Amino acid sequence: MAVYTKIFLKFPRRFWPEAPGKEFFLYASDRRGYYPVWQQFKKEYPGSDVLLVTVSDDESRRIEQQSDNQTMAEAMEVLRKMFPGKDVRDATEILVRRWWSNRFFKGTFSNWPSVNRYEYDLIRAPVGRVYFTGEHTSEKYNGYVHGAYLAGIDSADILINCVKKNMCTYNVKGKHD
Ligand SMILES: Cc1cc2nc3c(=O)[nH]c(=O)nc-3n(C[C@H](O)[C@H](O)[C@H](O)COP(=O)(O)OP(=O)(O)OC[C@H]3O[C@@H](n4cnc5c(N)ncnc54)[C@H](O)[C@@H]3O)c2cc1C
Repeated sequence: MAVYTKIFLKFPRRFWPEAPGKEFFLYASDRRGYYPVWQQFKKEYPGSDVLLVTVSDDESRRIEQQSDNQTMAEAMEVLRKMFPGKDVRDATEILVRRWWSNRFFKGTFSNWPSVNRYEYDLIRAPVGRVYFTGEHTSEKYNGYVHGAYLAGIDSADILINCVKKNMCTYNVKGKHD
């Protein structure tokens, strides 16, 4: 499972520029993946004074295990480096999603290199009358919404073939076919 973490920070007032082409801000750190991608919401939520920072994988796991106050302190230090000379007040609220530590999710989406149709077929193989689907069963677009959508159609077809046409044999292609 990949881990992709969105952290939302609310500020007493805006200190970042708002203009066409200024939706995203990038922070380049020597430390890989350290609070790199920032986004503002002028268009979606005008006047919200909220910033979103996205981190992933190792940084996500690290941040999930620390307090929100610690994360806010780190983020504020980064923002003050990104906007020197601006009046960057402390954020008043923070929302940190914890997809990795949640035992019902353990991550945000599947990400498995070197897996082919054989493994996907095994993963979605029906067990009796129980059928499986989801982004993780999409060979081409696993990890994405359109993968989930297309996999749903495929699994529904398998089920309909069984119920309506009595074609219930589930074929698994050979591993090296
Ligand atoms: C933070 C984050 C950012 C993402 N960003 C993007 C993006 O930008 N673009 C993109 O394409 N994809 C993105 N994804 C991935 C995308 O959201 C998933 O690939 C997609 O939602 C998977 O759909 P799904 O139907 O396979 O599973 P889910 O959306 O997880 O649906 C499974 C459903 O089953 C329900 N469920 C679980 N157990 C039971 C049970 N026992 N009984 C009944 N219901 C149950 C769950 O509540 C859930 O509603 C992101 C994911 C995350 C977490």
